[in-house]
This record gives sequence, structure tokens and C-alpha cells, in this order.
Amino acid sequence: MMMRGGPFGGGPIDRSQIPAGPKPVRRVVRLFRPYRGQVAVVAVAILFSSGLGVVNPLLIREVFDNALFTPTGVHVQTLAFLVGLMILIPIITGAIGVLQTYLTNRVGQRVMQDLRNSLYEHLQRMSLRFFTSTRTGEIQSRLANDVGGVQSVVSDTASSILANIVILTSTLVAMLIISWQLTLLSLVLMPLFLVLTVRVGAVRRRIAMETQKSKAEMSAITQETLSVSGILLAKVFDRQKDEIARYRAESQNLADLTVRQQMVGQAFFAMIQTFFSITPALIYLVAGLMISRGGSAAITAGTLVAFTTLQSRLFFPVGQMLQVTVEVQASMALFQRIFEYLDLPVDISDRETARDVPAPTVRGEVRLEHVSFSYVQPNEPPQAATTPPSLVVAEDGHKARAGWRRWALEDINLEVEPGQLAAIVGPSGAGKTTISYLVPRLYDVEQGTVRIDGHDVRDIRMGSLADMVGMVTQESYLFHASVRRNLLYARPDATEEELEAAARAALIHERIIEMAEGYDTVVGERGYRLSGGEKQRLAIARVILKDPRILILDEATSALDTTSERLVQAALRPLMEGRTTIAIAHRLSTILAADVIFVMDRGHLVERGSHAELVRRGGVYARLYHEQFGDGTVEALCQNGVVLSSGQVMETTAAQTAGAAA
Ligand code: ATP
Repeated sequence: MMMRGGPFGGGPIDRSQIPAGPKPVRRVVRLFRPYRGQVAVVAVAILFSSGLGVVNPLLIREVFDNALFTPTGVHVQTLAFLVGLMILIPIITGAIGVLQTYLTNRVGQRVMQDLRNSLYEHLQRMSLRFFTSTRTGEIQSRLANDVGGVQSVVSDTASSILANIVILTSTLVAMLIISWQLTLLSLVLMPLFLVLTVRVGAVRRRIAMETQKSKAEMSAITQETLSVSGILLAKVFDRQKDEIARYRAESQNLADLTVRQQMVGQAFFAMIQTFFSITPALIYLVAGLMISRGGSAAITAGTLVAFTTLQSRLFFPVGQMLQVTVEVQASMALFQRIFEYLDLPVDISDRETARDVPAPTVRGEVRLEHVSFSYVQPNEPPQAATTPPSLVVAEDGHKARAGWRRWALEDINLEVEPGQLAAIVGPSGAGKTTISYLVPRLYDVEQGTVRIDGHDVRDIRMGSLADMVGMVTQESYLFHASVRRNLLYARPDATEEELEAAARAALIHERIIEMAEGYDTVVGERGYRLSGGEKQRLAIARVILKDPRILILDEATSALDTTSERLVQAALRPLMEGRTTIAIAHRLSTILAADVIFVMDRGHLVERGSHAELVRRGGVYARLYHEQFGDGTVEALCQNGVVLSSGQVMETTAAQTAGAAA
């Protein structure tokens, strides 16, 4: 049979993904709770209009038996009265219908709006961990496709179910009143329909789940490959053909699934339609036989016409109910996907006891005490871990817990005094960026404490923490919006003068006013219409505007040309002034200027001290320094406004080292 799975199953279906049971249903019903009043009005309207529907067939019987074909001829008065009623009732029903449609749509849209908003709000509260492990396209798809997919169910299903139940019961009651024998005959195939409905629904639900997965996949592919970075990568590596093939394959899969989704149940509906079309004929036959045997004098012409009219009224609700159950089951799959996201725990949020630290009182002392952190959470199953166990052990012999877990940071102790510039250096993957994430609580430490001015960062309200800590990251993210809007993102209430002052300090003002529309020039998505250096300076201006007490600076590893580099360096100087700065340093100038350098290696803090001390020690830092800067690499170094060549830098360093040694 069609619902056996064969023609629908593109492959094995992961049954664990298929939601079942009343739980999601109850949750969906709960979504309507705030609109109880309106729902009640709709229910009354439905009861009234659907109930009125049976009156017309009964009137037909009256017209036939008591007005048109009476033993005493036509009763004009009765006829006029009945006809009047027959005209009035549909008008009333129609008017109620309009009100009901308006209310159901309104409630439906409100529920959708609530669902969308709470999903977006919840996603906004998710920590970085969620976003680094989930594809953007997948997230977008849940918000757009899944929420969009339940729209029809939310906006008309509930009322449709109620209306159909009322129509069905009132019609059945009227039919039973007219003739119970004929009613039984009409209902003989009902159980078969019920069984089929349940089965068709299950198949549809499974296909719906697969369709949504496929849509999410399409959305992820589009997002990954049609973004500026994605298209750049594809073009540079000449992978466009493969990307097209990947897209085509998924597109085909989606098309097939959609056809299957549309087709499942169609044969079934056709069957019902046929049944309903032929039953009046059967009724005439059976009624004729009953009358000819003289067994049932009660069956008059009026009765027959009224009965078949009532029966035809059954078709629509039965068909709809079947369709609705199938749709509801399919939508449950979507609701499940939405609830799945809504149920994701928010791992970083304000503690109840968290409080604000007023900005002017912040001194800016940062301290890490016995801090350990792992990107893999303790309760995460091994297969979800970003690094497979075998790799972890084979890669570098890191300490691994339970065979697969490893620390990105282990037992780190460091302190940065207010106003100091601290440079964190170390080989790639040492954990430098990770440290920078822990201070503004983008991740929470697993052991130990991060303190600002002695307060555990988890005891500071997140809004207050965000005010204290500013970040300039390697990749400066800009919105596809005007320069002004991008800058104001840091402080929406900043005045025009403050905006300009920040831009001047970051040495980007001149460049901005050169642009076609000055501060109103729209920078392309992620600022692709600006050069790397300009983007960085804009990002620096943004942080200057925010004016945080603590600055986290992840220096770009990608080299800019000498002029841009010098501009960025010069822009950074006023930013660092008077603030505690923790810099993930890749530039010699920063390292030399640092009050303290922390050297990281494989998640451990291995050395600390000034540049000169560390070079003298001849450890990890000295090796790193010679590898990076001692091989004749030219780095434009802007120190006290003087540009030094790498040779001069080496000389300066040698002099500093000698000085420190003495
Ligand atoms: P680089 O100089 O190359 O940027 P880094 O010193 O900043 O390196 P981190 O980014 O802090 O290094 O990474 C430390 C370790 O944690 C690395 O081994 C890295 O692979 C791992 N790691 C970083 N981010 C994640 C993540 N989101 N999920 C899992 N592991 C991660």
C-alpha cells in the first residue's frame, strides 16, 4: 500500500527524530493561552454558524413535505416563510463567518509572532558555543521555514477542527433524526477512513521532517556558498562546479520530497471523494427498496432530499478533518524542531545575585585564578565533541579526560593591573583567543575564576560586564548599513560630535568624509567595500565610542601594507591609553610596548615577564620571537612616532636585553 514507506522512503528514516505523543500538542495549545478571550469568541461563533448549517436541509424537508407537496396542495404562506428563513440563515452564517475569519487570523498571527519572537530572543541569549557549533543556515531555516511552516496550522487548524466537529455532530444528529437506518448505511466505511488517516498522517509527518531537514540543508549551503567569503573561496579554488552539483543534488532531494509530501494521501482523498459521490445513489436505491417493501412509510420525498443534502454536508468536514489531521501531524514535526531550539539551555546568563558595577568605579584589574576551560562540555557525548578522541591523543598528547576530553586552558593564573598593557603570545592553538573570550564571559570557565576588580565576572550583570569590556577582534564585523549606524552600534545615544571625535581618534574620519555620502555611506556586507585597514580603523572607532575600561585586542595576523599598518597602529594608541588592555599580540611593537607578556603554550601559561627578561631566559618566548621577528621579517614599527626597520628593532631589543641583564 502507498503508506508502507517504500515509495516515500528516500532512505532509512531516523525515527528518534520523529516527534510523537501529546506533549508537543499540549505545548502548541499553550501558545494560545494569552488569547483565550478571542479564542472563546471564535468558538461561540463557530458553534453558532456551523450549527445553523443543519437548519437548511431540515427546512428543505419542510418545504417539500409541508409546503410544496402536501395532500392539500401548495401552502403559499408556509412556503414564503420557509423560503424567507432559507435566505436569512446563510446571510447570518456568512456574517458570522467574516468575523470568525478575522479573529482566527488575528489570533493565529499573534501566536506566530510570539513564536518567532521567543525563538529569536532565545537564540540571542544563546552563548557563542551554540553558534560555533551550529551552521548559520540551519538556524535561519528554523526561524524562517519551520516557523513559516506551522503558520497554516496555527491560524486555521484549531478553528477548522472545531467547525468540522460541530458540523459533523450536528449533521449526524439531524441525519439520525431523519432516518437512523440510512445514517448507519452512510457511516459504514468510517472506521476504515479513520485507520487510513492515522497511517497517512504518520507518513506525512515523517516526510515533513525530512523536507524541513532538506530545507535547512539548502539554506545552509546557500548561506555558506553565496556569502562573500564563500564565493571567494569557491572561485579561488575553482570549486564552483562542485558547489553547483551539491546544490543541485539537495535541490532535487527537496523537490522529490515535496512531490511525495503532496502526493501522500491524494489517492486516499480521491477514495473518499468517490465514496461521497456515490452514496446518494446508494441511498436512493436502499430507500427505494425500503419503500417498495412497505417497511418504511416515513421515507418521504422531502426526507430523501433532506437526507442526501445533509449527507453531502458530511463530505466537506470529513475530507477536511482528514486533511487537517494529516497536516497537524506534519506540523508537529515542525513544532518539534522549533521547540528543540526553544528548549536549548541558555548556558551563560545572569545569576540571580548578579549586580551592576557602575562604570565610573571600574578600575580595570583583570585576574584569572586557576582557570581551566574546555570547548567540549562534560556532558557532551563523544561524537559531538569537536575533536575526535583518536585525534586528541594522536595530535599532541594533550591531557585528555575520559579518553577524549581536553582542556583548551588548564590552571591559568594571571593578573593584569589597571591601565596595564598585557600581551598574550604563544604558538597557534595555544589558547590565547580562549583567554580573551573568558573575560567578557563569551564562555564560562569550568574551573577557577575570572575576576574584574576582585568581582567574579559571573557575579556581574552581563549588561554591566559588556559595558566594561570592549573587544577589537581580528575580523572586524560591520553591518550592511551606513558608517554612522555601524559606529552608533557601540553607543546609540552618541552625539554627532562624539561620533566624529571617535572617528578622528581612530584616523578614519578623513577617509569617511572622502566617501560618496560621508557618514551615510553604506558599507557592504561585513564591510567588504572597505579596505582591511579601513575596516579595522572603523572597528577601533566603534570601541573608542563605547569607551570600555578594559580592552581586549586580538591583533590581526594578516599583514596590512606598511601605510595601513601604521595607521591602524596609530589608531590603536589612543584606544589603549588609560585602559587595561589585553592584547593577543602578533606585532612586535605591541610586544615591546607591553608592561607584561604572558606566554601560552598548549593551554598552559609557560612564561611571563617583560620582553627583555623573556628573551634572556631563552625559553618558548625567545624561540617564538626569533622565529617570528628574527629572520629579517620587515615590520614597520611605529614607536613614539618613529618608524623603525626590523634591523633597528633587533638592535633596540638587543639593547633592552643587555639593559635588563645589567
Ligand atoms: P591562534 O593564534 O591560532 O588564533 P589561539 O592561541 O588563539 O590560536 P585558541 O583559539 O584559543 O588558540 O584555541 C585553543 C584551542 O582550542 C585550539 O586547540 C583550538 O583548536 C581549540 N578551539 C578553539 N575554538 C574552539 C571551538 N569553538 N570548539 C572547539 N575547540 C576550539
